Amino acid sequence: MVLSVVSPVYCESAQIGVFLDAVEKVLRPLDLPYEILLVDDGSTDDSWERMKAEAGRRPCLRCLRLSRNFGKEAALAAGLEAAIGEAVITLDSDLQHPPELIPEMIRVWQDDEADIVEARKEKRQRESRLDSLFAVLFYKMFHLLTSLDLEGAGDFKLLDRDVVEAWKSMPERKLFYRGMTSWLGFRHREIFFVPADRRSGGSKWSFFKKIRLALDSLTAFSAKPITLIWLLGLFFFGFSLIVGGEALWMHFSGQAMTGFTSVILLILVTGASVLAAICVLSVYIRQNFHEIKGRPRYLISERAGGGETPRRRGRGVGR
Ligand code: UDP
Ligand code: MG
Repeated sequence: MVLSVVSPVYCESAQIGVFLDAVEKVLRPLDLPYEILLVDDGSTDDSWERMKAEAGRRPCLRCLRLSRNFGKEAALAAGLEAAIGEAVITLDSDLQHPPELIPEMIRVWQDDEADIVEARKEKRQRESRLDSLFAVLFYKMFHLLTSLDLEGAGDFKLLDRDVVEAWKSMPERKLFYRGMTSWLGFRHREIFFVPADRRSGGSKWSFFKKIRLALDSLTAFSAKPITLIWLLGLFFFGFSLIVGGEALWMHFSGQAMTGFTSVILLILVTGASVLAAICVLSVYIRQNFHEIKGRPRYLISERAGGGETPRRRGRGVGR
């Protein structure tokens, strides 16, 4: 039985060595064969050179390099698809996910017969007010639309091999790892942790990137916003019957409608509603556009470490 630890790396050159030391320090005493898989998500610093050097020193380390920055979700997918472990643990390489939790996750997986062991944040990491407000709103909306509760969820998880295989069978191009694992079901267990501060560098997520991920994730998991457009349409149909009836009644009874303000308000409200409906639809069309092209989720340009694995070395294409 092998344990795989998968971690995405984007411009983390300063802490790759420390991260690997910290992970190996907790894995070694467990007396389980293990592999560590680092996926370089098109870093622009010397992370890949550092990873290759580490792979030369550590027989347990395998490294994949994506051909460009595909985003953390795609990097995780590349790692999950390459991992061979009976259990796969995913965690960030910036040491905000404490590797010291790994033995407890393995214990819960083995003793409590859990298929997914999720390390949830007891409180959110230090971040700006805007970021935390945005995250809280997003998770509330996600829960409302999908009934999946992701509050405090992150990408620090242990997945049993069965879950990994089920995850790999999900064909979507736009990935949302924590939502997808939650959707899969299986036997879930949770343990809690307080995220550490980043050791070095800053978060790699710009506000714009987060908004895009939020929109993609919501529309990938729920079609309820389209139902809302229907409801909006029905409401306006009823509304137009009432106002139209009133206007006709006033016309034929020789009175005038109360003038300009009501016309302006009607135009503004209907115009805004139509535009809002088009916006919602356009998000779904964008989602479809990406899915239907069926391009690979990621491309692998280089591999390092791991000795002679049975897989083809060199370039590779993600599903
Ligand atoms: N990451 C990645 N690709 C990206 C952005 C981030 O692989 O485009 C990695 C990054 O190296 C880290 C993890 O994803 O290991 C989490 O990123 P970050 O710490 O920036 O996110 P936050 O902790 O702020 O959510
Ligand atoms: Mg982080």
